[in-house]
Amino acid sequence: MADYIYTMEIRLTPDQLKGVNLVQEIARAAGVTLYLTGGAIRDIISGFTIRDLDFTVQGNPLKLQKDFERAGAQIAGHDEDVRTLFLVLPGNVRAEIGMSRTEEYEKVGKAPVITPASIQEDLRRRDFTVNAMALSLNEGSRGLLLDPFNGVADIEAKLLRILHNYSFVEDPSRLIRAARFAARFHWPLEERTQQRYDAAKENNYMEHILRGAVGHEIAQLAHEDDPLSVIRALEKEDWLKVLHPHWSSAKVDANGIALLMKTRQQLVDLGYTVDPSAAVMHFLTAKLSDKDISDLRRQIPRKDLIESWRDIEDHAKDLAKRLMGKEAATPSRTWNLLSAARPEMILFLAVTSRHQTVAGKIKNFLTKWRQVQQRIPLPEMTELLITPTLPEYPKIARDVFMLLLDGRLRSHTETLKFLKPFAPPPPPPPPPPRRGRGPKAAAVAAVAPAAAAPVKAGKGKGKAAPAPAAAPAVVAKSEAKPEAKAKAEAKAKPAKAAPKAVKSAAKPAAKPAAKKPAPVKKAKRKKR
Ligand code: ATP
Repeated sequence: MADYIYTMEIRLTPDQLKGVNLVQEIARAAGVTLYLTGGAIRDIISGFTIRDLDFTVQGNPLKLQKDFERAGAQIAGHDEDVRTLFLVLPGNVRAEIGMSRTEEYEKVGKAPVITPASIQEDLRRRDFTVNAMALSLNEGSRGLLLDPFNGVADIEAKLLRILHNYSFVEDPSRLIRAARFAARFHWPLEERTQQRYDAAKENNYMEHILRGAVGHEIAQLAHEDDPLSVIRALEKEDWLKVLHPHWSSAKVDANGIALLMKTRQQLVDLGYTVDPSAAVMHFLTAKLSDKDISDLRRQIPRKDLIESWRDIEDHAKDLAKRLMGKEAATPSRTWNLLSAARPEMILFLAVTSRHQTVAGKIKNFLTKWRQVQQRIPLPEMTELLITPTLPEYPKIARDVFMLLLDGRLRSHTETLKFLKPFAPPPPPPPPPPRRGRGPKAAAVAAVAPAAAAPVKAGKGKGKAAPAPAAAPAVVAKSEAKPEAKAKAEAKAKPAKAAPKAVKSAAKPAAKPAAKKPAPVKKAKRKKR
């Protein structure tokens, strides 16, 4: 049996993996059986980006709401009918936890009858074979892949195949899904699926689509990597107007979307986790009327998307205002302000701001100022024993960076002058071996001078005992992850005296030169 746990672990982002472990813990404690299902499995196996995590439990996930909240997850909504919980797990991981169920369509255009069921039965209600797989996250069977419709084979063949002939009649939203997946993955419909698709179109099954399904499909567009091409594909199939009668590709700000996706990639390359969904919806609906936009929002089941889309312009305006004020008067202040801002806001402002000051500051934050980090003299810091093992290291590294940013350390020499007072004293030499009487002591004494030699050498200038490897990314990392930065700063001790060269917030932790590491040796010698 293929080890899908390993595949899952290497394919998920660290935050997604933490999310899987968290959900698994909660399900185990509640005694419910848990599976990772749907698109997440498809994307893990096919190698496409894993956009969100779909879980299925044999039980009622709505009862787990409090447990998730306690674990730091945000509840972004729920669907009482299908007992599904919409979550944002720590690290901004989108997730859905649904009840394992059957859906029986008794009448065209009517909601299906929902009944709790086993996972095997649940997989039969799904749309395409590639989406009808489940990975067990349960003790005893963890890693077992349930693939009753040969989804893995269809992933390999790059085909979208429905599970049965009535699939599109039962739920016409699957027509939209087929067009969306085909556009996203460039996978064609399997031959019979294509015939059923054409027949469904010809017979206008779409007029029976359920309102709830429309809202779900609107929201899905926000998470596409290439939303414009999906919009165009839906338009070509006549499905875009099903989502909203006034929606067309002409209502999209195509340049905005293109720039948004490019800037998003830039942020991702810098190590940010950024959710562009609100901004995507902003640009996809840029030329629709306010009323049409409200209509669209009203149908979306996830309130986190509705709110972030609704508030994006106001929040971006607030940030722009702060960027033009005192709070961002210097590069270092601007850096701090933007480091603490939500990456989603930086992204949106980077694309939309027409104000030169704001755009320039964001541009510097994303490009020029990053290069300043390379001027932090890490090799010399290592030589001075200013390494990440020092509790005050994050603060020192950060202060150097801030001073460099503001042009207050103008040369390498000035930077070293600033750093030197922070160098800790060299480690004391180990005590010499104890000398006693008898053959054993004599043997120890014979070895002792050789053992002590490296310590002597270590005392010489520039020959310090090898320091632990420096962490060159310390500033970059702490800036990219504000929480990590805050933690590191909290650890760093407050300073005592600022070096003369540059009066700054940074102060040396101790005066190294004043302290001599000799007393241990002297004391020993006296004893003898
Ligand atoms: P995406 O990558 O777009 O999120 P997804 O497959 O995860 O794709 P979701 O809409 O999140 O899509 O749905 C999760 C899973 O629920 C699907 O993979 C599929 O198994 C099932 N599903 C969703 N909508 C339908 C539907 N209309 N009919 C049948 N199954 C569906």
